[in-house]
Amino acid sequence: MKTMSIIGSTGSIGTQALEVAKKHNIAIEGLAVFGNTELLAKQAKEFAVKKICVFDESKKAELSALVDRDVEVLTGMDGLCEIARMDTDIFLNSVVGMVGLKPTVEALLAKRTKDFRIALANKETLVAGGEIVMKLSKEKGIPVLPVDSEHSAIFQCLQGNDKKSLNKIFLTASGGPFFGKTKEEIAGASVEEALNHPNWSMGRKITIDSATLMNKGLEFIEAIRLFDVTPEQIEVVVHRESVVHSAVEYKDFSVIAQMGVPDMKIPIQYAVLYPERTDCPTKQLSLTDYGTLTFKKPDYETFDCLRACIEAVKIGGTMPAMVNGANEEAVAAFLDGKIKFLQIGELVTAVLSEFNKKEITCLDDVFEADRIAREFVKNRIS
Ligand code: MG
Repeated sequence: MKTMSIIGSTGSIGTQALEVAKKHNIAIEGLAVFGNTELLAKQAKEFAVKKICVFDESKKAELSALVDRDVEVLTGMDGLCEIARMDTDIFLNSVVGMVGLKPTVEALLAKRTKDFRIALANKETLVAGGEIVMKLSKEKGIPVLPVDSEHSAIFQCLQGNDKKSLNKIFLTASGGPFFGKTKEEIAGASVEEALNHPNWSMGRKITIDSATLMNKGLEFIEAIRLFDVTPEQIEVVVHRESVVHSAVEYKDFSVIAQMGVPDMKIPIQYAVLYPERTDCPTKQLSLTDYGTLTFKKPDYETFDCLRACIEAVKIGGTMPAMVNGANEEAVAAFLDGKIKFLQIGELVTAVLSEFNKKEITCLDDVFEADRIAREFVKNRIS
């Protein structure tokens, strides 16, 4: 029986991962959440989990009261890292934001007695600290398998072929709820409108990132880290139907795409069970129900977050961590009603001209860049 620990277990990816675990009899040994103690306690009971963590330390007593006495209750970043270090077969990181970076690194550094893999849904880990994470992954021989649907698609398209013959990547984007609109038309967009994604049901932060196309920008950087390609080798394509989850072109100009219904359980299961392919608790794709699949160029003018991310990764060093940090603060402010929709892109773009990059020599360089970018956004807003 395989074992798994999950941080971010009450979120969209986490709950679907537990469905996959149930289907395939994977034992859950550790779970962590930000603050949803009630659902965490339910999950802990259902899967007989021995170690759980609530990131919000003020909720420790509340959580302890909800679970059996023999369940160990942890809190904070130390708790997240302890779950990440557990000696399981799989560690799934599905928290949102930079908070996921340290647990990923801890999971890579921990002593292992098993064949171990990281299933990574936390894209910010690779955007901000990707160079450190991928270097450690190589050194330790621990695979980091993408859960993000696009990167899972690319990874699947690369199976069985020599990576040296890869020419380019087509990174598909749904375009989000504001596809085809001008800046003027979305200037007054409300939180509800921005949260209304056409194809995917996801958490709040990533749904806003999809509306600004920041999500595609982060994924652009994520792809560079995971597949060791240059920015010039990636073409972002708007594909409204979210059926082609991405594609790769080889040197002979043959293009291989991965398709499926837009359901995260497919990429979650692939990362968890790789290389095995077996029944997945999802729907089959009917191509004739779709009939037509469309592909368009993205609008870099309206969606300046995407452009900012591409520029940031070309600059390199700490700049991707800075645009990510600025975005995390700006999205939180937008969700709180403190700024307008278009200000997210303005704040993320401003980081590029306000700061110079620094080289990343250690994890603290990443955290410092993140802190500076957040501080900058907070000051601009207040
Ligand atoms: Mg994605």
